[in-house]
Amino acid sequence: MKRRKIKDILGQGKEQAEIVIMGWVRTRRDSKGGFSFLEISDGSCLKNLQVVADHNIDSFDSISEKLQTGSCVGITGKLVQSPGKGQSVELQAKSIEVYGEADPNQYPLQKKHHSFEFLREISHLRPRTNTFGAVMRVRNRLSYSIHKFFQDQGFVYLHTPIITTNDCEGAGEMFQVTTLKPDSIPVVDGKVDYTQDFFGEKTCLTVSGQLEGEVYALALSEIYTFGPTFRAENSNTSRHLSEFWMVEPEMAFYDLEDDMNLAEDFLHYLFKDVLEHCSEDLEFLNKQIDKTILERHRNITENEFERITYTDAINILEKLNKNFTYSVEWGCNLQSEHERYLSEEVFKKAVIIYDYPEEIKPFYMKVNGNGKTVRAMDVLLPKLGEIIGGSQREDDYGSLLKRMQSKKLNSEDYDWYLDLRRFGSAPHSGFGLGFERLVQFVTGMENIRDVIPFPRTPKHARF
Ligand code: ATP
Ligand code: MN
Repeated sequence: MKRRKIKDILGQGKEQAEIVIMGWVRTRRDSKGGFSFLEISDGSCLKNLQVVADHNIDSFDSISEKLQTGSCVGITGKLVQSPGKGQSVELQAKSIEVYGEADPNQYPLQKKHHSFEFLREISHLRPRTNTFGAVMRVRNRLSYSIHKFFQDQGFVYLHTPIITTNDCEGAGEMFQVTTLKPDSIPVVDGKVDYTQDFFGEKTCLTVSGQLEGEVYALALSEIYTFGPTFRAENSNTSRHLSEFWMVEPEMAFYDLEDDMNLAEDFLHYLFKDVLEHCSEDLEFLNKQIDKTILERHRNITENEFERITYTDAINILEKLNKNFTYSVEWGCNLQSEHERYLSEEVFKKAVIIYDYPEEIKPFYMKVNGNGKTVRAMDVLLPKLGEIIGGSQREDDYGSLLKRMQSKKLNSEDYDWYLDLRRFGSAPHSGFGLGFERLVQFVTGMENIRDVIPFPRTPKHARF
């Protein structure tokens, strides 16, 4: 007989003469009347299915000892209306098979509550907790709805390379990819001879798919990437990973305003979709993790984003006369404390800041007529800070070349990028959304390490 998923069984709530379920025992409780109550999870939803096992069923005695928290079972039985509270139906077991035992003296997930720090040490077992199940189902739905949002509008999903020779200027420190042996690196004139390396030149793991995305936007009009990116920054914060997933749409014929409109529509869409399709998991997280999640989601979906220029943002922050750790003046990089203050305290909603100083932004952003600012925008969320960074790209060959020279970039390395402005250049824009930051905001998880299955951070790449 085919296995039924617990999500479907609970969703339908109908009695049935015989079904098969498979999953892991979350708890076992024995009653005096000769029954055991098992809570079974198969991960298809937050809720467990309650199974009532009469101690008189065939061979119960021989398996009883193996039916422990953590063990894996297959159960055939009759689905009946449940007299107990909290579930519509329960399964009366006819036969139980134990696939895998879990010795109660050794299985680490015995208690009901474990700290996230402890669970990070056992990242191979933490998916079996309610919280990680909920977070990963939400993560899954968000991935799906990201694709759905773009696909429904005819964007082309583009796979950009992971190994690259570009450094997407300043986006972050890069991990090098090499087959040179650390103890015998070929050196010529005091420099590493990369002609002897695998690719014949220095290569790294990508920090962003944007530049390659631009190539395809200037042929297919609207594309998006959704893939892993890597940054070797030694920032041990609750918002930075060394390996994280990024969503990067890139659109021909969009100016900065179109770009901001797309970013706002995109976030509105994702929050509405996840509230609709993950309500059970989100209500659980709202209860267990952060009681303000649902309220914060509503704040995003029900309000237009505030849009202010960088210059106005600086003026507001300066007038506050607040003692920030990093002081504020025109030309400075906004720090997360400033970004959070603007969205949390000043506007109390999502904020888009645009038109940043030219000096603090990369070469590819389009310079405004004043020569001082570039057409960049960041989307900031309360409690999180930056979630999206984007810009209109410089589409004029001469201006781009000038900017590359002033930033001391070797224009020969970007020959192909300059070609896009030499042949059929078009106004175009795009942005990058850090996927784990989104999952963090949606689930209310404090630490970004707890929203990705296997986090990679400084000094940590093993399970
Ligand atoms: P931050 O200032 O927060 O480090 P950034 O300015 O370096 O971010 P971008 O280069 O604009 O970020 O990258 C685009 C998006 O990718 C950011 O808006 C953020 O959501 C996400 N992001 C950037 N770095 C990381 C990281 N190390 N881990 C997880 N997400 C990141
Ligand atoms: Mn960064």
